[in-house]
Amino acid sequence: MELETIIGLEVHVQLKTKSKMFCRCDNRDDQEPNSAVCHICSGQPGALPLPNAQAIDWAIMASLALGCKVNQESKFDRKSYFYPDLPKGYQISQYDKPFGFEGSITVSIDGTKKTFRIHRLHLEEDAGKLLHNGSFSLVDLNRAGTPLMEIVSEPDFRTPQEAKAYMQELRLIMRYLGVSDADMEKGHLRCDANISLRPIGTDELYPKTEIKNINSFRAVERALTYEVERQTALWEDGQPPKIQATRGWDENSQTTVEQRTKEEAADYRYFPEPDLPPIIFSDAHVMELQGMIPELPSARRERFAEMYDLKNDQSQVLVEDIQSAKYFESVVSEFKAILDELLGIEKGNLCWKNGKGKYTRLIANWLINRISTEHSKARPKPHAESLAWLLYYLDTSTINASGAAIVYEKLVEIYEKNPDSKPEIANLISELGLEQVSNSDELEKMITSVIGTNEKVVSDVRAGKTAALQFLVGQVMKASKGKANPGVVQEMLKKALEA
Ligand SMILES: [Zn+2]
Repeated sequence: MELETIIGLEVHVQLKTKSKMFCRCDNRDDQEPNSAVCHICSGQPGALPLPNAQAIDWAIMASLALGCKVNQESKFDRKSYFYPDLPKGYQISQYDKPFGFEGSITVSIDGTKKTFRIHRLHLEEDAGKLLHNGSFSLVDLNRAGTPLMEIVSEPDFRTPQEAKAYMQELRLIMRYLGVSDADMEKGHLRCDANISLRPIGTDELYPKTEIKNINSFRAVERALTYEVERQTALWEDGQPPKIQATRGWDENSQTTVEQRTKEEAADYRYFPEPDLPPIIFSDAHVMELQGMIPELPSARRERFAEMYDLKNDQSQVLVEDIQSAKYFESVVSEFKAILDELLGIEKGNLCWKNGKGKYTRLIANWLINRISTEHSKARPKPHAESLAWLLYYLDTSTINASGAAIVYEKLVEIYEKNPDSKPEIANLISELGLEQVSNSDELEKMITSVIGTNEKVVSDVRAGKTAALQFLVGQVMKASKGKANPGVVQEMLKKALEA
C-alpha cells in the first residue's frame, strides 16, 4: 500500500509589542523572573483586561500580508483550562471570529512554487513558564499575558521539507512586517505539527498525531520525518493510529514521545470574554493597515530578479536578510552614481544599461560570498559608497579579486575603529601596493623569465597540453606577487608560446 503524508501546522508568533496583551507590563524576555507581573496578568480577582491596540493592528496587518480575509467584527473568547502556568484558570483567545481567515503562502521549493493555505489567524495571550527542578517546579509569570498570534494552516504539506520551507517563509514575513523577531531558538516562533498518513488516492483524514515542543527548523524536519517513519511502520503492521494523540519531540533521543491524548474543543468550554467588548474595524482602518505593509519577501525576490537581473538563488539569499537586501540596493545605487560621476549622466546611463546585469551580479556575488558569511556577519559593513568604489576598481581591472579581498579586509578594519570614516579607495589600493599590473614591460619581463625557467612545461603546452598553461599563469602571478591580471597574463603567455 502506498501512503501519503498529511501535515498541518499551528504556528505561534510572539509579538514584540512594548507591553503585554491585556495589561501594561513590560513585554521583554530578558527580565528577572516574576518582575513584569501585575494584578491583571497574574489573574487577581476583579482585575479587568484592556486590549493592546498595537497587537491587534499587527494581527490585522499579518492577516492581510498572508492574504487572509479580515473579520471586521471580531471578539475575544475565554478558553478554560487549569495548569500552573495559567493563573486565571483560562486563557483569553479567539474562538469563532479570528481576526484573519482563508489566506495562503507561496513558497519556492527546489525551484517549484507551491501554495499552502492558511485556515485562520487569531490573537491570544501566552501562559507563564514552568521551570522543573527535580521534585518541584517554579513558575515565572513574566511571559503570562504576552501577545501571541496563532496561525493555523490547512493540512496542505505532503513532506517535512514543505513544512519547514513554509515555517521559514512565515518567519521572514513576520520579520519584514516588524511584528516579531520570530527567532525559533528564543521561542518567539513556536510550532505544533499535526500529522497523519493515508493510502494514496483516498480523501479521508485519519486520526492525527500532534507533535509539540519543536524548537528549531531542524527539529521541524526531523520530528516530522521521524513521525512519518513511525506511522508508516504502524500502517504496514495493519495498526494505523485509531485515536488522536499528542507526542513531544525529544531532542536528546531524536524521537517523539507519547503525551496525553488531545482534549476536544468542547473541553475548553469556550465562551465570549465578558470583560472585553467586541472589536470592530472600519474599512478605513483596514485600508490604513494595508498601506503600512512593506514590500514582502516574495515581491522583493521577484523585483530583485527582474530589476537587477539577478539569478534566482542570488535574490533568494539577499532577501533572506532585511539588512543585506537594503545594503545591496544602496551599493547598487552608489555604483550607478560612480558611473554618472566618471562618465557624465548620459554615458553613465548607457554604460549602466549595457552592463547592468554584470554590475548587479558582481555586487550580489560579493555580498553573498564575502559579507553574508557567518564570519563577516558580526563585523561592520563599510559605507555602501566605499564598497561601490572597490567593486568599480575590481570591475575595471584596476585590482584583481584577491587584491579586492585585501582592500575589503582593510576597509572593515578601518570601520571597526571609526564607523564614520570614508577612506578614498584609490588611495587605499595604492598604499597597499595592489594596483594590477596589466600591460606593461614589467609583465613582459616576468613572462620571459617564467618561460625560460620552465622548459619542460613549455614543451608540454606546445605539445597541446593546455592544462599546463595554467601552471605558467600561476608562476607569473606568483612573480607579480598576485598583482598581475590573470586574464591578460594568459593571453600574453599564449602569444609568447605561439611565437
Ligand atoms: Zn501585567
